[in-house]
Amino acid sequence: MASEKEAALAATPPDSDSPTIFDKIIKKEIPSTVVYEDDKFQWKFFIHTRTRAACLFLYFLESRLFLHVNMPTVQKIFKCVLAFRDIQPQGPTHILVIPKVRDGLTGLSKAEERHIDILGRLLYTAKLVAKQEGLDDGYRVVINDGPKGCQSVYHIHVHVIGGRQMNWPPG
Ligand code: ADP
Repeated sequence: MASEKEAALAATPPDSDSPTIFDKIIKKEIPSTVVYEDDKFQWKFFIHTRTRAACLFLYFLESRLFLHVNMPTVQKIFKCVLAFRDIQPQGPTHILVIPKVRDGLTGLSKAEERHIDILGRLLYTAKLVAKQEGLDDGYRVVINDGPKGCQSVYHIHVHVIGGRQMNWPPG
């Protein structure tokens, strides 16, 4: 299996619409060990129905109206997060926290003003899952960005790693 660095260098940064493996995890098409999830009902309604109308509706909101129209329910959907265990843990605890709707946020470097809320929720969820995992003596929160940051999946995600003593500087 390729090292994290090799995988990151091989990964092609996609455009904002390209699906990633995390989309399959969100849709439960491939298994993962979920440790935290919010707004399950709304997500199921909008995504698991998989109707063309729902997809077009979301696309329409994302590309045209989201910034300009006050729609609390829709805004809530855009703030939903999912946290699951990393398949290649770098410590006794290794959890990834991701937004359920990417909204162009393939990586931190793509962040725009409209992403401020979801970025805050990702970090707050990192704290929640760290507490849930009993990482009371500390843990590390990491966001890899781009090839030199060793990012291999282009759907923004926060790593929460703990259960062992960390070192500094990171490799
Ligand atoms: P890196 O691969 O260098 O850590 P990223 O920061 O993009 O780059 O992290 C992607 C993470 O996603 C990796 O830690 C990887 O182990 C994890 N991952 C990939 N596929 C899965 C999966 N199916 N289930 C859980 N975690 C996964």
